[in-house]
Amino acid sequence: MPDSLSPDLSQATSLLHSVFGFGAFRPGQEEIVGAILRGENVLAVMPTGSGKSLCYQLPALVRGGVTLVVSPLIALMRDQVRALTAAGVAAGSLNSSNDPAETARVLGLLRRGDLRLLYVAPERLARPDTIEMLAESNVSMMAIDEAHCVSQWGHDFRKEYLELGSVARQIGGRLQTIAFTATADAPTRTDIVDKLFAQPPRVFVRSFDRPNLRLAFKPKERSSKQVLAFVRAHEGESGIVYCASRRKVEELAETLKEAGVRALPYHAGLDKAVRDRNQDTFQQEDGVVMTATVAFGMGIDKPDVRFVCHADLPANVEAYYQEIGRAGRDGLPADTLTLYGMGDMQLRRLQIEQGDLSDERKRIERQRLGALLSLAEAPRCRRQTLLAYFGESSEPCGNCDLCQEGVERFDGTIDAQKAMSAIVRTGERFGMEHLVSLLRGDRTENILKYEHERLPTFGVGADRKASEWRSIFRQLSALGLIAQDLMEHGRWWVTDEGWQVLKGKQRIELRKDLAPAAGARGERRGRPAASAVVDDGDLVLFDALKALRTRLAQQQGVPAYVVFSDRTLAELASHRPTSPRAFREIHGIGDAKLERYGAAFLEVVQKHAT
Ligand code: ADP
Ligand code: ZN
Repeated sequence: MPDSLSPDLSQATSLLHSVFGFGAFRPGQEEIVGAILRGENVLAVMPTGSGKSLCYQLPALVRGGVTLVVSPLIALMRDQVRALTAAGVAAGSLNSSNDPAETARVLGLLRRGDLRLLYVAPERLARPDTIEMLAESNVSMMAIDEAHCVSQWGHDFRKEYLELGSVARQIGGRLQTIAFTATADAPTRTDIVDKLFAQPPRVFVRSFDRPNLRLAFKPKERSSKQVLAFVRAHEGESGIVYCASRRKVEELAETLKEAGVRALPYHAGLDKAVRDRNQDTFQQEDGVVMTATVAFGMGIDKPDVRFVCHADLPANVEAYYQEIGRAGRDGLPADTLTLYGMGDMQLRRLQIEQGDLSDERKRIERQRLGALLSLAEAPRCRRQTLLAYFGESSEPCGNCDLCQEGVERFDGTIDAQKAMSAIVRTGERFGMEHLVSLLRGDRTENILKYEHERLPTFGVGADRKASEWRSIFRQLSALGLIAQDLMEHGRWWVTDEGWQVLKGKQRIELRKDLAPAAGARGERRGRPAASAVVDDGDLVLFDALKALRTRLAQQQGVPAYVVFSDRTLAELASHRPTSPRAFREIHGIGDAKLERYGAAFLEVVQKHAT
């Protein structure tokens, strides 16, 4: 029977509407739900924000019995349970942070056979008493979230995940298993299949395109100024600023605070209580900027993060994609900016080379870093370059800095020759800062020590700023004309291709964005993105609805989006429903929310009737 006619799938579709308040499936969801309902084991690879949770939540409701959801992230479990409960679904979690009353409630529901979704941390699940209890309950399937945690290739390996296959067998013989991950690369995917499934599952891979995310990179200059300009352009919106070190997290949080931004720090060195408090504030309130190391984010399920800024270069393309993916999960426009500098690149290379990794692993890491650098220096649409890395081909997106602002090019042959002759004349023994001083004719201590002020190259590049020369070095490196030896203090040398240019046998073009344009974008933006979806005439009502949402959320001690998403408020402000029936038609409003919030929100809409 085709999917469209299966009674289970049509029941799932009506639950999509009545419980979650969504008008339609997102791309990919329907096929996955269909396969799960037919009893297949499934691995779904989907980008963050594409709506994985619904893929197991709907079958769980259609099926009956209890669906186990394995997740390593306690904060995320808590949020999902809250959101499901608010939608009228019997859900609960078992984890170390529950109070006894909550655990009793969950076990009571389970015993009576009323529980539909049980979220459980892997270490809790592996306990013999948990397994015994679940073996006696009516468990219908096991959904494994963040399935890449089973792979040693990934950045989030957790050894408890290795037990999940055997746990599933102990609970239910051939318990149906469905696994989800947002990690796309091939070695990780193969590992997941090997370690979680006895037989190869049905694999779904969703497009990694997230068209609502604007992509942009800029060479790093004064990074705190650049970050501040970017954050200011997003006043009043929730966002994340990622930094490479704890110290920088603290410094940037201070800088932003001094500028009047509501910024909070987050890193592993902070007291756990402080960390948790900052995370809660970020989750629950509007317009907080989290300045964080990458320790922050994996458990963040906040749909209305409007921007992500990397103050330092991310670790690799995978990490970059995961981190920017935390913005715009609600599908509304979100903005990203990544700052990259030569120092960052050197540091990353060193971390790989000197790290305690196998040769095979180092090779993979080098590739991943190389892909990120190509993305930073991309000559064409960034999204095309990014998607190409994930094996997808696409058209220019029109929503990245390169599509919108273009890259101007110029004949860079002479500059390249100057830079390379500086390398050659100093015996291919020096790093970039020294070479830049030489080109610019700066009499630094080292220049004088080596008597480099006597070289013919001394000062030939005085017409360019140091930052411009750094960009030229970076581009020559991306073009493969020069290379760096990291084991020897990052000394540069000229490759065979480079010699072709140096000898004048070949000309080259360089990108013109040599001078950084901090904040250039910010000034052009009028309104913050959250209200980009709200017409001017609806803004007053939108703000009033937001105020009501904040009040209700505070009363109930839940994050604002658990009440309603930004998109729901935006639709309310523009459609202005006057009856419960019309209210129910709005995105994100199901039966439970109609009953709970209908009257209060309708009253606000009524007051603004024109
Ligand atoms: P993921 O786990 O893939 O990162 P989530 O499951 O958290 O993503 O979903 C991201 C957001 O998209 C959530 O706010 C969710 O409510 C919303 N969403 C999911 N499916 C749909 C749909 N079919 N229509 C509208 N919104 C959806
Ligand atoms: Zn583009």
